[in-house]
Amino acid sequence: MPRERLYLFDTTLRDGAQTNGVDFTLADKLAIARLLDELGVDYVEAGYPGANPTDTNFFAEPRKLRAKVTAFGMTRRPGRSTSNDPGLAALLEAKADAVCFVAKSWDYHVRVALETTEDENLASIRDSVRAAKARGREVLLDCEHFFDGYKAKPAYALACAKAAYDEGARWVVLCDTNGGTLPHEVEKIVGEVCTAIPGDHVGIHAHNDTEQAVANTFAAVRAGARQIQGTLNGLGERCGNANLTSIIPTLKLKPEFADKFEIGVSDQKLHGLAHVSHALDEILNRAPNRHAPYVGESAFATKAGIHASAIVKEPATYEHVAPERVGNRRKLLVSDQSGRSNVLAELERIGLSVDKNDPRVIRLLDEVKEREAIGYAYEAADASFELLARRMLGTVPKFFDVSYFDVKVEQRGQNGSAEVLTTAVVKVKVGNEMLINAAEGNGPVNALDVALRKDLGKYQKYIEGLKLTDYRVRILNGGTEAVTRVLIESADESGEHWTTVGVSPNIIGASFQALMDSIIYKLVKSGAPA
Ligand SMILES: [Zn+2]
Repeated sequence: MPRERLYLFDTTLRDGAQTNGVDFTLADKLAIARLLDELGVDYVEAGYPGANPTDTNFFAEPRKLRAKVTAFGMTRRPGRSTSNDPGLAALLEAKADAVCFVAKSWDYHVRVALETTEDENLASIRDSVRAAKARGREVLLDCEHFFDGYKAKPAYALACAKAAYDEGARWVVLCDTNGGTLPHEVEKIVGEVCTAIPGDHVGIHAHNDTEQAVANTFAAVRAGARQIQGTLNGLGERCGNANLTSIIPTLKLKPEFADKFEIGVSDQKLHGLAHVSHALDEILNRAPNRHAPYVGESAFATKAGIHASAIVKEPATYEHVAPERVGNRRKLLVSDQSGRSNVLAELERIGLSVDKNDPRVIRLLDEVKEREAIGYAYEAADASFELLARRMLGTVPKFFDVSYFDVKVEQRGQNGSAEVLTTAVVKVKVGNEMLINAAEGNGPVNALDVALRKDLGKYQKYIEGLKLTDYRVRILNGGTEAVTRVLIESADESGEHWTTVGVSPNIIGASFQALMDSIIYKLVKSGAPA
């Protein structure tokens, strides 16, 4: 049986740009549009031309995307004609493949927010759709507050949607703008809408205010909707939009959807999903959500010993899909709770072959337990665990020695106008060469990091692509006995991420250990010679 086509409409660059703390530059937007296009989404909603320079410039930029670049904006203002509305003119002039209008579909909003009549709102929808069609654009209508509007006055909400469809809009998108509608309500209402408008012209735009945006999206698809709007990593205002990073693998891997529907994301592109998700976090300079379904670090992580031995024998026992299909990997957490099978499985993944009765396996497990008792956290720090294991098996070369470091933080100027400067000096011995590096930084850890990585002699070329992507500090125990645990996440030019850990009563000492582990891990991974 031929599968029906479902269309993916990404609004990371428009609705996602409403996220607290997110501020895309033009370069960010172009990079994200390319990521989305590569992944295989059908539409990239890029912004609001005429509303701000970044969005206006995006549309002016030459681009070669397969996805339909969509411009977003309002229908003509009440009481104006389409030819006498500068906002609409900017939208229609934008170099876009499609135009997505947003219009009110809740009578209450028409009256109170728009301060116009229900009929004038309908006329505005019809006129705007017609004007954009006349310009050769594919047209979509986002029916704002559709579900709340439908509950209040179904005939009017439906009339708004129908006005756009009858005028030739390719898609009428039902928006749960406040995000409070529940899946069974979505399924019922979309089902009713689809008796008046064919489902292959109906889209769903869900927000996550009850943490059901993804569930609401699938409820709409079950009821007949054939376009899905959402964002990468669920970015979006308040609690976010429907998360395409979760929706896409569910559509591809769950038979209920995969047997019935086809999307523009190939199996091969699905392998790159975790990478796409992390790449967006990198552009935003945010730490990835470890617990994100499918793509998070912990999505396929198993801790307890008995689960771990089963998972090694037969992964399907504890995994709902194979992690490789979305570009993730199985992770057996090595921690003081873990048994020998976790350690053995982790050693195998790292590529260290050890006989399972080798006494060093028990020694390694004991070492992990002892170190965790004083504050190390190996389940969070895979790279530090790997170094610990490799050191125990004698396979980590002595690349360099740090014989001295000094970090100085000083205030210059007085109080309000004071500037705080940080400098670090590091003495590193590489072979017979003694190198002295000094650097400034925006804080002691940064200065130390910059100084340490400034010149590593013959190893410098191996660490050029190394970046620190996240830095987390936790004070353990509390009181005067407190120790500091630092976790540093790093990445390199290949896109691989790893985490290292340091523990010390002193935050600089803990940071230094984690930095050293990260650099040594990178050297080991790059095959740097001893
Ligand atoms: Zn929205």
